Amino acid sequence: MTSPNPPAYVASVDPDLAALIAKEEARQFYTAKLIPSENYASNAVMEATGTVLTNKYSEGYPRKRYYEGQQFIDPIEELAIGRAKALFGADHANVQPYSGSPANLAAYAALIKKKSENKRILALSLSEGGHLTHGHKVSVTSRFFEAHHYSVDRDTHLLDYDAIRERALEVQPAVIVCGATCYPRSIDFARFGAIAQEVGAKLMADIAHIAGLVAGGAHPSPVPYADVVTTTTHKTLRGPRGGLILSTAKMARSVDRAVFPGMQGGPHNNVIAGLAVALAEAATPAFRDYAQQTVRNSRALADALLAGGARVITGGSDNHLVLFDATSLGATGKEGAVAMDLAGLEANANTVPFDPRSPMDPSGVRIGTPALTSRGLSEAHMTLVGQWICDAVRGRDDAAELRRIREQVRDLMAAYPAPGFEGGAPDRTLLD
Ligand SMILES: *Cc1c(COP(=O)(O)O)cnc(C)c1O
Repeated sequence: MTSPNPPAYVASVDPDLAALIAKEEARQFYTAKLIPSENYASNAVMEATGTVLTNKYSEGYPRKRYYEGQQFIDPIEELAIGRAKALFGADHANVQPYSGSPANLAAYAALIKKKSENKRILALSLSEGGHLTHGHKVSVTSRFFEAHHYSVDRDTHLLDYDAIRERALEVQPAVIVCGATCYPRSIDFARFGAIAQEVGAKLMADIAHIAGLVAGGAHPSPVPYADVVTTTTHKTLRGPRGGLILSTAKMARSVDRAVFPGMQGGPHNNVIAGLAVALAEAATPAFRDYAQQTVRNSRALADALLAGGARVITGGSDNHLVLFDATSLGATGKEGAVAMDLAGLEANANTVPFDPRSPMDPSGVRIGTPALTSRGLSEAHMTLVGQWICDAVRGRDDAAELRRIREQVRDLMAAYPAPGFEGGAPDRTLLD
């Protein structure tokens, strides 16, 4: 029902929009999507997300609703909840958060009660890989809670658990947040759990980026150690855009009340149905293979960049993400990302730890393998992609060179169709 053509009903009602959707389909299909927070949802996920379930109001939770007519909505939400609990081995799951950011805000609200005196959260700083919702000053999370940050080691750029422990002893936070939006290595959740226990803090793990790796056994799980685990559903987990909160049985009621009525109104039942499908897909052996291959590809991509002369932050990758310093290839992060985009290699500029450049024009480029791995690419392709990246960044002023790479990228993408495009390849000329 999706590709290769724009949805027929949209085309009949709104041809302008349909034309833009068709172009975006072609762009997604023929671009090497290296943004580590993006992926391709399956046709089944998108189909469930695009159903009449969007028409129903269901404030409340299964069997405790404020509206009638929930005969089929209740079992749909229960399917999603049951699958999330089973997949992650969690006592409790809330599948209603609209996305990762609202999930985090709800998690803080669940962990820090209105009247509590200690409203301190301690999280990884944004410029060293944390997320805005981890208490950055422009995020409301810093207005409602008192944000403190830990960093990575100045030399290795790895999380330094002794230093984090020191920081936690000094700050005495109510909540320690672990998890990142730009960290290329494994996170030791057991160690975070021990630190939280020692300082009497609750532990919140935000696995937005790595949820699919955790589900597929390619990254250790925080579930045994964290009071609350938050995630997006659309990154490595490959579901519809949404959020998910897992918790201990003890935190269950607080989490549910924080999401509704604390933060949200009616749940997006269509998205919850799409999530139910994605969670079923993520429980298959094929998804376990996918998660492992994503990590192998990431290692291969880091190796290829190193071979091409790039400075790779921490020297490699243990997960789905690689961060490299574009200045080592003679460009700023923004210049590098723009050149890559012209070459059909989609990424984003990002700060490197302790970046001497400004966040608006940082030194690094953040890339990752979740989307390319969903298309069936493997290590040998990553070697090629890594070379293309180095060539594109170095050759950023050479339009012919960027076009040469772009055509090679498009040929490779055409040979490895993305999930969701089973109907066939979009028209390549739409991009000209
Ligand atoms: C992406 C991300 C989020 C936010 O998710 P949205 O769905 O964009 O709101 C939160 N935390 C981390 C670590 C993320 O990477």
